[in-house]
Amino acid sequence: MKIYDIVIIGAGPAGLAAGLYAGRARMDTLIIEKEKNGGQIVITNEIENYPGGIEEETGPSLIGRMVEQTEKFGVNHVFDTIVDLELEGDVKVLKGLHDEYRAKAVIIAAGAKSVPIGCPGEKEMTGKGVSYCATCDAAFFEDFEVYVVGGGDSAVEEALYLTKFARKVTIIHRRDELRAAKSIQEKAFANEKIDFMWNSVVNEIKGDGIVESMVVKNTKTGELTEVVADEEDGTFGIFVFIGFKPNSALFEGKVEMNEAGYILTNDDMETNIPGVYAAGDIRKKSLRQVVTAAADGAIAAVMAGKYIEEHE
Ligand code: NAP
Repeated sequence: MKIYDIVIIGAGPAGLAAGLYAGRARMDTLIIEKEKNGGQIVITNEIENYPGGIEEETGPSLIGRMVEQTEKFGVNHVFDTIVDLELEGDVKVLKGLHDEYRAKAVIIAAGAKSVPIGCPGEKEMTGKGVSYCATCDAAFFEDFEVYVVGGGDSAVEEALYLTKFARKVTIIHRRDELRAAKSIQEKAFANEKIDFMWNSVVNEIKGDGIVESMVVKNTKTGELTEVVADEEDGTFGIFVFIGFKPNSALFEGKVEMNEAGYILTNDDMETNIPGVYAAGDIRKKSLRQVVTAAADGAIAAVMAGKYIEEHE
């Protein structure tokens, strides 16, 4: 069976940057992606903080160029879901739903995903008014009212994006102060379409096949308020942006991670298992951005190359 030099799990910015560096170093490289290239960044509509980024850059446009770049350097791509792995030993074995893959080194770049509110009705109403991706679903709410849950960069940036579609956007935040960067906050406060429900959390989402109302609880007073859809609209949108959690369940017990499930690495992206690296949002780190994910990927690929050379 074929043994790749490097197999990369995940085709987000970390995995694609790793692929680029591995491909340029003439390593036989495979990137395995479960669903859709790009990871979290493809649900971002505007990227203004990637160095040298071009005007009106979107997540999908940047990822599209990253994928092309890896292909130019001979990197192979496959869509498969890895369900089991053997990472110890000189040949790493990755078992997917469709195939089995072998490699001398593995780079884990499986990213992180959105955290749900966890309230009754949320799951049932997902895709029926509840969304975790403004870029994907904003157009469904043209001229409707939408609510954005959260107070971080993602919530406020996506609320700004949603104002291009919705007639009114209300940010529901559990405190009375946003966590988002000041520059993003200023844009939101200056936007006439954005309103705020402070000290509030969503307790329940209700509807018959589509969101019709939600129960919001005031965190200070405990008071419950039912927000009901405008009679003419019949529905409204609820966009949830309350953070991420790492996609690391598969790696539990295989590599060292912290309590929150983020994989522990050193500065060279090495995990505790020789020949196994982690890069991007799945790794314990202090800043999760495209630029830091790409940097992680580059380092992981170069260090994996050195590891392979030393073991040949
Ligand atoms: P985040 O920064 O962790 O913010 C999560 C927000 O959701 C916080 O305001 C938090 O409230 C709130 N929250 C958490 N759990 C909640 C719950 N159970 N119920 C209600 N509210 C809850 O997450 P993020 O905005 O997704 O961003 C993740 C990372 O990506 C951050 O490091 C961020 O800087 C980065 N990011 C950067 C950009 C950019 O630079 N352009 C864009 C997007 C994301 P509290 O404030 O009370 O904790």
